[in-house]
Amino acid sequence: MTAAAQLVQSLRARGVHFEPEGERLRVRPASALLPDEVKALRQHKPEILVLLTRSPGTCAVQSSVADRARVFRAQVEAYWRELGEAWSQAKHLPIPPLAFPDVTPLAGTCELCGDPLSLGCAYRCSPCVDAINLMLAELREDDPR
Ligand SMILES: [Zn+2]
Repeated sequence: MTAAAQLVQSLRARGVHFEPEGERLRVRPASALLPDEVKALRQHKPEILVLLTRSPGTCAVQSSVADRARVFRAQVEAYWRELGEAWSQAKHLPIPPLAFPDVTPLAGTCELCGDPLSLGCAYRCSPCVDAINLMLAELREDDPR
């Protein structure tokens, strides 16, 4: 993980929010930052802005778990439609590979959404894992087999 991604991750873990505004980076609450962290944010600002604004409109960064679950569910249902009739009677339907569109996984980011990974997460961020679990629970509720 890059120093910039690490910084974003550790501050987010403390409840700090990042809002890219063009060339500017708004950080709230500013009072939560230590002087060293302000310095580090300034130093890494260009990279952090890229991290936060990559793939505008499609990147999952800061999407809610419910939003992520909707994206994943649409992918699963599209996949099932493609499988066609023969599969509609199957007891267990396969789950296709899921990912937000236009995400290029970088080292230290979630393979599904491109968000910086928290420590202890190898491939997927916890909002994506929660979203997948939520989606599966909703599918089971709507179509119990
Ligand atoms: Zn993710």
